[in-house]
Amino acid sequence: MKRLNLNTQILLGTILGVAIGVYFHALGAEHQTVRAGLYTSGLVGTLFIDLLKMILIPLVFCSISVGVANLRQHQQMHQVWVTTLLYFVCTMAVAMVLGMAASLYFRPGSGLEIELFEHAMQNFEAKQLPLPEFFAQFLHGLFVNPFMALSQGNVLAVVMFALMLGIALVMGGERFKHMHLLLQEALDVTMLIVGWVMRLAPLGIMALLIKLVASQDATMLTMLAKFVAVVIGTLLLHGMVVLPLILYLVAGMSPLTFWRGAREALVTAFATSSSSATLPVTLRCVNQQLKVKPEIAGFVVPLGATVNMDGTALYEAAAALFVANLVGVELSFAQQLTVFFIAMIAALGAPGIPSAGMVTMVLVLQSVGLPAEAIAILLPVDRLLDTLRTTVNVQGDMVGSLVVQRLVAEPA
Ligand code: ASP
Repeated sequence: MKRLNLNTQILLGTILGVAIGVYFHALGAEHQTVRAGLYTSGLVGTLFIDLLKMILIPLVFCSISVGVANLRQHQQMHQVWVTTLLYFVCTMAVAMVLGMAASLYFRPGSGLEIELFEHAMQNFEAKQLPLPEFFAQFLHGLFVNPFMALSQGNVLAVVMFALMLGIALVMGGERFKHMHLLLQEALDVTMLIVGWVMRLAPLGIMALLIKLVASQDATMLTMLAKFVAVVIGTLLLHGMVVLPLILYLVAGMSPLTFWRGAREALVTAFATSSSSATLPVTLRCVNQQLKVKPEIAGFVVPLGATVNMDGTALYEAAAALFVANLVGVELSFAQQLTVFFIAMIAALGAPGIPSAGMVTMVLVLQSVGLPAEAIAILLPVDRLLDTLRTTVNVQGDMVGSLVVQRLVAEPA
C-alpha cells in the first residue's frame, strides 16, 4: 500500500484525535479506558512538544547565520542590505499590527477558560513588567555570551549572535569558507531532524487533541473557527491590499501585472507550504517575468525566503493573543509589545518549511508566560493556515525585490 503523505496523515490524526476525544468525553473521566487513554496521550503529547522545544534553538541559530552569510558581495552592497532589511522589518511590523489589531478587536477565544492549562498558568503572575523596565531588560538581554544563550535557550541573544556571525562570514569571504560550509551543513542536519519530528506530528497532534477534546466542550471549536476567520481575513488584507499598495506606491507596478508575473510562485507556495521549496520558482518569476536584476533578486529573494515572513509574523502575533484570551489572561501593553518583538524574531528565525511557524510559536507563547501546551489548539488549523501564510511570505519576498530594485540607485 502506498504511504499516505504527511498532510493526509496529519488530517487523519486530527480527525481521530477529535473523535477519540469526543468518545472519551462521553464515557466520562472515571472510566478505566479513559484514564489509561488520557495518561498515554498526555505522555505522547508532551514528548512531541519536548521534541519541538529541543530543535528550536539549533534551528534558529543555523537558519539565521546561514541566511545572512549567504549574501553575496554586491556593488552597492551596503545600500541593498539596508533597504532590504528596512523593507523586511517594516512590512512584517505592518502585518503584525494588522493581526494584533484584528485579534484585539474581535477577541477570538475570550470567555473560555481551558482546564488543561490551569496548572501551567499558575506560574503566570511573575511575568508582568512595566514598560521602561521591559525596555531595559530587552536591551540588556540582547548581548549575552553565546554559549550561555544557546544552553539556556535565550533566543533573542542567539539571534543577535547569529546575525553577527553571519555578517562576519560575509566580510571574511573566502577566508571563512569552511566555517560557512560547516554552518550550512549544520542547518541541513537540523532540517533533517525537523523532518523527523514532523513525521511524528500526526501522532503528537492526535495525542494532544484527545487530551484536549476529552476535557473540553464544543464551544472551543466555535472559538477556533473565529480565530481562523480573523487570521485568514487579515492575511488576505495584507496580501491583497497592503503589499500591492506598497508595490504600486514605491515601484509603480499595478497589482494585475504583479499577479501575472508572480502567479506561478504564489500557487507553488500555497501548495507546498514552504518558502524554501518555492524558492527556485520565486527566483524564476522575479528574474524572468518581473524583470528584477539577478544580483538584486539573488540577494533579496533567498534571504527573504528564510527571514522575511509577513504571513508567519501576523499569524504568530494573532495566535499569541488568541491563546491569552483562551486562558483568560489580559496581556498588559508591555506584554503585547513583547509579543510583537518576539513574534517578529520567531518569524525571522522560522525557516521556510511547512509548519516552521508552529515550531517557533512555542517561543512567542513562552515569552509572556503562556503555556507551550496551547499549541495543541493551534495544531489542527496549522496546516490550513500555513498554506495562506506561506503564500503571503513568498509574495512579500517578491514585492521586496521590486521595491529594493526601485529604491537602490543605479551605479554612476
Ligand atoms: N511554512 C512557512 C513558510 O515556508 C513558514 C511557517 O510555518 O509559517 O514560509
